[in-house]
Amino acid sequence: MITKIIAEEKIVQVQRLLDKYDNIVIVTHVSPDGDAIGSTLGLFHYLMGMGNRVHVIVPNSFPQFLKWISGTDKIIQYDYHPDLSARLVAEAQLIFCLDFNVLKRIKELGELVRAAKGKKVMVDHHPYPEDFADVTISYPQISSTSELIFRLICRMGDFDQISKEAAEAIYTGMMTDTGAFTYNSNSPEIYYIIGELLSKGINKDRIYINVYNNYSEDRFRMMGYMLSEKMKIFPEQKTALLCLSNAEQERFHRQKGDTEGFVNIPLSIKGIVFSAMFREDTDMIKLSFRSSGKFPSNIFAAENFNGGGHLNAAGGEFYGSLEDAVRRFEEALPAYFEKYYEE
Ligand code: 5GP
Ligand code: MN
Repeated sequence: MITKIIAEEKIVQVQRLLDKYDNIVIVTHVSPDGDAIGSTLGLFHYLMGMGNRVHVIVPNSFPQFLKWISGTDKIIQYDYHPDLSARLVAEAQLIFCLDFNVLKRIKELGELVRAAKGKKVMVDHHPYPEDFADVTISYPQISSTSELIFRLICRMGDFDQISKEAAEAIYTGMMTDTGAFTYNSNSPEIYYIIGELLSKGINKDRIYINVYNNYSEDRFRMMGYMLSEKMKIFPEQKTALLCLSNAEQERFHRQKGDTEGFVNIPLSIKGIVFSAMFREDTDMIKLSFRSSGKFPSNIFAAENFNGGGHLNAAGGEFYGSLEDAVRRFEEALPAYFEKYYEE
């Protein structure tokens, strides 16, 4: 048995909305990751199976290593189809917002969702939710939104309605948000849920291979170059910083998702507790932070780079040069280390 994490009144509210409405849009955050796509498609398959009209809209593209998931071909990208997306959001009776909790995380789509007349349901696991939804299902202690989707469906009495396709999507999100169950994954219930998903016929070993053994040669050469030539270690602050400029990424023929996971690597170095990766993008610097123990990646990201996230995994954006971003990082780091680092 799994415990009832989601409050009963929230389950009842969602059930009522689903009884009443069948024109549904699901949205998730910019540069969707495995949990964003997994939770979204898990819910998509369930709602479609229940006879609804459902559209999934994402702000922009997502990595190739997620494209094997059933339903990805139905996803509408806002940046390619802004008018269609705007119409669908405006016409939807019900809008599910998954794996994000502030509307700026879905970029231009955010104001469209805010203005939409449809009822909104947020399902998310990040701290500090914004109050924009009619029903807010926010549980930061749960390691993935995909797990929350599983819990939501089961609590509505519909475990039997979870198809193999939905189970694969949900498992993918649970796996990717925990680094294949290597962090944030000590709750025994995670493994109970995995058992339930396996009973739907999913092949978890195959899913691991699809996601993690699916990279290009270029990606590995870029990783080797970055670790060998670009990694900066701050021994006193037990911190590592990785940077990649536009030109460097071009040299290795960058594809969406190629740098995914790089920021985790330095945490494998003995003694390193905080890792940052600064990746130059077309119009800004994308920042990723990872930490182990109590060092708060999210506070560091929020206070210095207008970002946010979880205690051990956070991100942000910087509008300026890579050099300026690095300078701000280096200036800020010592004070945070002194304040938050514990043996
Ligand atoms: P990643 O480093 O994988 O891009 O992001 C790790 C986590 O940081 C995400 O799950 C998300 O919670 C958070 N995050 C990443 N980028 C941003 C951002 O620009 N703003 C905020 N608020 N959170 C972010
Ligand atoms: Mn997530």
